[in-house]
Amino acid sequence: MNAAAETFAISDATREFLAREHQLFIDGKWQPASSGETFAIIDPATEAQISTIQLANEADVDKAVQAAQRAFTGEWSKLTSYQRTRMMLRLADLIDENIQTLAELEVLDNGVPMMLAQYTIAGYGAEFMRYYAGWATKIHGDTIPVSPAGVRNGESLTYTRREPIGVVGAIIPWNAPIAMFILKLAPALATGCTLVLKPAELTPLTALKMCELIKEAGIPDGVVNVIPGLGQVAGEAMTKHPGIKKIAFTGSTAVGKHIVENAVADLKKVTLELGGKSPVVVFPDADLQQVIPGCVRAAYFLQGQNCMAGTRLFVHEKVFDEVINGIAAVANSMKLGPGLDPSSQLGPLISAQQRERVMAYIQSGIDEGATLVCGGKAREGKGFFVEPTLFTHTDQNLRIAREEIFGPVLFAMPFGDDDLEKVAALANDSIYGLSGSVWTRDISTGLKMAALIDSGQVSVNCHAAVDPAIPFGGNKMSGWGREFGAEGLEPYLKTKATTVLLSPPPF
Ligand code: NAD
Repeated sequence: MNAAAETFAISDATREFLAREHQLFIDGKWQPASSGETFAIIDPATEAQISTIQLANEADVDKAVQAAQRAFTGEWSKLTSYQRTRMMLRLADLIDENIQTLAELEVLDNGVPMMLAQYTIAGYGAEFMRYYAGWATKIHGDTIPVSPAGVRNGESLTYTRREPIGVVGAIIPWNAPIAMFILKLAPALATGCTLVLKPAELTPLTALKMCELIKEAGIPDGVVNVIPGLGQVAGEAMTKHPGIKKIAFTGSTAVGKHIVENAVADLKKVTLELGGKSPVVVFPDADLQQVIPGCVRAAYFLQGQNCMAGTRLFVHEKVFDEVINGIAAVANSMKLGPGLDPSSQLGPLISAQQRERVMAYIQSGIDEGATLVCGGKAREGKGFFVEPTLFTHTDQNLRIAREEIFGPVLFAMPFGDDDLEKVAALANDSIYGLSGSVWTRDISTGLKMAALIDSGQVSVNCHAAVDPAIPFGGNKMSGWGREFGAEGLEPYLKTKATTVLLSPPPF
């Protein structure tokens, strides 16, 4: 057992789960991976191996898709929407009942601080499932008044049905593993689809634990199949498999583009939740007591490994120094440590590779002449910790200002203009368009700026407001489509129009 789990008590259930060599969950059963290959799961806070998983290959993907296809037309398809709702509500209760084990697994697997893991599991997990459980009974089509010419003057009735799209292939990243799992699972269950899900190879544990709860909730075998595997092997095979009708992908923009290329072969439907480099705009009248902690959360939440992170900060020159000094003071006081330690405010990055990537960006900021205000160092010793880092500069043509770093690195620059369109042009000068926030006491400035920012989501006086009911997704290179809310059901459905001729047209 690793050092963090030794120092900070974890439950027997978590200990027992970690001790297993995890197989693939296909057709409601644990099944060995065909290749026999295994992968070590590492605690990023201690670098110790905490568990072992088996890796799916192309043959396993095919097996999982076949199970999902059988389930799609089997018992699952005969259930009423009320029965699906009840199963989903049962699953939500099971998530709550198992929150301690799920949170401990998430902390050890991903490095996230415990309180955040619990909050995510309760909010994104159980409540998200309940929200979509409510939708299962409210999915319906329309009746359509048809022009008489449409069916050659006959009397007719046309109606639409919203049908599940079929087998959905979900591919998710490592930054918020259980939330990502449930964001894909809940709309799939609500609409009557079946699912083959590949968690990120680095963080599969909560997805695997969820399989036990899915079984216990009475969801029929084969409806949910979870196959940990490498992106280039299992992920690639999923995007090429003709049995998968839709890919729900969350991850990097580069992989998202590649998935689109693969999906062209059989015109699979694709939704993409991709990268971001979101702007935070602070006007001089804003309440700085809210702005400073708000900017800290926007930039450093999940150690900056957050697609919605507010990593480009534009502050009016009248309050620039005050805001920058305030953020630096909070960042310098933040405690880095293992997620199991209740006093830790920031955990480690996910891997040594991610730490090297982030450190290379920090070096590029220094080399390109930005001012390093705080942080900038990786912590000595075990664990992939990097200090919360803040750079300032007077223009945003630096790599640290343009590229998604996915680490605790905030870039800030002052603006002096009062012309909102010019300020918005600064904020929109990015290939990404996922999130963004505006800070002001003037409601008119807030609303106008919110309208001008080109992103899927904008918040005023907070950053990245997220709720199961609020549509979420990106503009520009941040993605295709929306998740969450009623819109989040659409990609899992297809519309069938049926016309019934009631009386034939006269000759
Ligand atoms: P990634 O794109 O490297 O990996 C994401 C998933 O894709 C993993 O499961 C991986 O195994 C799989 N994958 C890799 N290559 C593949 C291939 N060729 N075919 C199919 N699947 C493949 O991303 P990551 O490093 O795990 O996550 C970080 C990225 O995710 C960041 O860019 C971040 O912004 C983005 N992200 C976006 C959102 C959002 O909602 N917009 C949320 C979280 C993370």
